[in-house]
Amino acid sequence: MWDFLRKRSLTQWIVVSLFVGVSIGYFDPELGKSLKPFSDVFIRMIQSIVGPILFGTLVMGIAGHGDDLKRVGRLALRSLIYFEIVTTVALFVGLLAVNLMKPGIGIALDKPAATGQQLAGNQATFGALLQHMVPKSFFEALANGEVLQIVFWSVLFGAALTMVKGKPKEAMLGFVEGVTETIFKFVGIAMKYAPIGVAAALAATVGASGIKVLQNLGMLVLTLYGALIVFALVALYPVCLIARVPIRRFLKAVKEPALIAFSTTSSEAGLPLAMQQMESIGVPRRIVAFVMPTGYSFNMDGTTLYLSLASVFAAQAAGIDMPFGQQLIMVFTLMLTSKGVAGVPRASLVILSGTLATFGLPLEAIAVILGVDVFMDMARTTMNLVGNALASVVMARWEGEFNPPPEARAAA
Ligand code: ASP
Repeated sequence: MWDFLRKRSLTQWIVVSLFVGVSIGYFDPELGKSLKPFSDVFIRMIQSIVGPILFGTLVMGIAGHGDDLKRVGRLALRSLIYFEIVTTVALFVGLLAVNLMKPGIGIALDKPAATGQQLAGNQATFGALLQHMVPKSFFEALANGEVLQIVFWSVLFGAALTMVKGKPKEAMLGFVEGVTETIFKFVGIAMKYAPIGVAAALAATVGASGIKVLQNLGMLVLTLYGALIVFALVALYPVCLIARVPIRRFLKAVKEPALIAFSTTSSEAGLPLAMQQMESIGVPRRIVAFVMPTGYSFNMDGTTLYLSLASVFAAQAAGIDMPFGQQLIMVFTLMLTSKGVAGVPRASLVILSGTLATFGLPLEAIAVILGVDVFMDMARTTMNLVGNALASVVMARWEGEFNPPPEARAAA
C-alpha cells in the first residue's frame, strides 16, 4: 500500500487533492474555509522564489551563451525583434480570450487587502509604471517582490556581465547558474507540498463560492486551449507563410520534441531533440544554437499567452473590474516579466504570483488554478517549444541560410 502511494506522480496527487479539496468545501464549507492558511503557506513559498528565478533566468539568458550576443549581433537583433512581436501578439490573444469568455466570473475569491505596493489597485498609469521600474536598491526590490524592478535590474546586470571577460565572468556565471539550478530544485520541493496547498485552496474556495468553481476552472482550461489554437492560426501560420516554412516537414520534425514537452510539461526537456531536428531540416547549427536557447527566455509563446489570460482570470475571480487601460498596463508589464519564465513545469505560476501582487490581485487564485494547471501547462509548454523551433527556421530564412536537404526540398 505504502509502495503504491509512494509511486504516484505529483500530477496524480494533485488530481486527487483536487477532489479531496472540492469534497471538503462542498460537504463542510466552514471547515473548507478554515483550511485557507494551508494554501497560504504554499503561495508564500512560491512568492519567495520570484526574485531569484527572474534574476537567474534573465542573466543566464543574456550572458550565458558565451560572447554570442555580440558575435551574432545582427541575428541577435533580428531574433529579439521577432520574439517581441510574436509574444506581444500572444499576450493580446490571451487578453482577448479571457475578456470574451470570462472564465473567472462567479468565483468569490477575497479581494486582497491593500497590498501597500505602488501599482496595486486601480491607480496604475503608464508614467507610474515607468518610474516604478527602476529600483533604488536591488535588495529592496527583491524583498518587496517587485517583479518589474527585478527584471530591469537583472537585464542590466546580464548586459554588464557580457562585457566582463575571463575568470571573473566565469565565476559570476557559475554562481548565477548555481543559484538558478538550486532554485529549480527548491521549486521541486515546494511542489511536493502542492497537493496540500491545492486541496486547501479548493476547499476554501468551494466553501466560499460553491461547487460552481469547477465549471469556472473547466472554462479556464478550455479558454486557454481555444486561445492557443487561435494564436497558432493568427500568428504562427502567417509567419510560416511569410517565411516560406515547409510546414509539413516542420511539423513532422517538431512532433516528437513537442510530445516530450507535452508529457513532461517542461520545454527544456524537449530542447535537445528539437535542436537536432531543426538542424536536420536545414537550419544551420549556429542559428539553432543561438535562437532556440535564447528563445527559451524571450519567446515563450504559450506561457506568455497564458500569463495575460490567467492574470485577468484572477481579477474576474475576485470580482475586480479591470478597466481596459489597466489591462494594457498589465500587458506591458508582462511583456517584460514573461521574459523571465524558465522552461520547467509550472514556472509561470511563479511569474504569475509576482504579477498578481503588483496589480493588487488575489494570490489565492494561484493555488486554485494549480488544481488544473497541469492540463494547461501541457498545452502552453508545447506551444513554447513549437514557437521556438519555428523561430529558428524563420531566422534561418531571414538570414538567407535556410538550406533544406535535397529530399526535403522536393517535399517542401
Ligand atoms: N512549463 C512551461 C515550460 O516548460 C513553463 C510554464 O509555463 O510553466 O515551458
